[in-house]
Amino acid sequence: MKLDDAYMDEVEQELFVRAMDRIGRGDKVVGVYCAFTPKELIVAAGGIPASLCGSSAEVIPVAEQHLPRNFCPLVKSSYGLALSDTCPYFHYSDLLLADSTCEGKRKMYEILSEIKPVHLLALPQNADNGQSFRLWLSELYRLRALLERELGNKVTDEKLREAIKQYNQVRQMIVTIFELNKGDIPLLTGCEASIAVDPIGFEVDLPGYVDRMKQVVAFARDRGGVAPRPRILLTGCPTTSKKVLKIIEESALVVAMESCGGLKTVNMVDEDGDPMEALARATLKIGCPCLSPNHRRFENLTNLIREYKIDGVIDLTWQACHLFNIESYSLGRYIQNELDIPFLQIETDYSESDKDWLKVRVEAFVEMLS
Ligand code: SF4
Ligand code: SF4
Repeated sequence: MKLDDAYMDEVEQELFVRAMDRIGRGDKVVGVYCAFTPKELIVAAGGIPASLCGSSAEVIPVAEQHLPRNFCPLVKSSYGLALSDTCPYFHYSDLLLADSTCEGKRKMYEILSEIKPVHLLALPQNADNGQSFRLWLSELYRLRALLERELGNKVTDEKLREAIKQYNQVRQMIVTIFELNKGDIPLLTGCEASIAVDPIGFEVDLPGYVDRMKQVVAFARDRGGVAPRPRILLTGCPTTSKKVLKIIEESALVVAMESCGGLKTVNMVDEDGDPMEALARATLKIGCPCLSPNHRRFENLTNLIREYKIDGVIDLTWQACHLFNIESYSLGRYIQNELDIPFLQIETDYSESDKDWLKVRVEAFVEMLS
């Protein structure tokens, strides 16, 4: 087994064929832009979830026809894919679910709604009070009703519980994949782990997704460890573009990722209580800077640093992402002063133009750790 682009292409192709079959039979695709949207509701409504956050640099010039150049590359890429109609997941989406997280995404959704129907979920700004919980819960009920209407299927508590169980298995396997790197000899590189946990396109086969990750675990255990290098925890903006991850792994090893697509969003959902309340509670536990204060991220990072024996933390900020950029100040101060762990913030975009400069900065940081 080789966890590379060819592996991803093969899985993507297989899922695509299955999705086309379901679409042909009338099932609808629901595009998602943020980890706060519980995909369980889509699955319980008989829909096909597809993550739409853009990772392509090529479509950014297309987006810049409408969006400012000095703007988050993730937002520009997502919009560019939509405008150029070059993303199959966007193309086949019947409905887009959008959480009101950052100002960039929120304003992008407004113009995106000229292309496809967008449903905005009003995410509370503070996750820690009862009022926020009630607001979020009511938003999820509004979403449930919308999905029932648009997809033509009733969302029963039974179907919702079943979807929660399936996604909990996915979450558990994502944790298991990263835990392969807890020991002194890590079993996967960060690039491999990132590919292993990627849902890769249309989410039409959750048991298959779990099996795929189980195969990776067996493969990694069988192969044995990867050459030890300084152990990095990568945090920050979603690693939609793998540019920074790849640069870090030229001199170090990313043993854990606290970001969307990594260990940030794997909060288990209670399978026994009220499923709507359980979903609202678990999603509000996501430690994202779009919530204020965001002490959960600090707690998660503290635990990960200890559990994964981290030598250094690298905080990825996509250019013009004010949320992560501002939080980087207090995060860096906390990690360096309270936890005594070296910290490096990298601010970049999807372009290749600063690669050499980034390499120099990362190498100097890693050298200091060694
Ligand atoms: S980083 Fe925050 S806003 Fe962005 S997708 Fe993840 S949870 Fe949503
Ligand atoms: S990286 Fe920052 S600016 Fe970009 S979409 Fe995520 S939260 Fe918004």
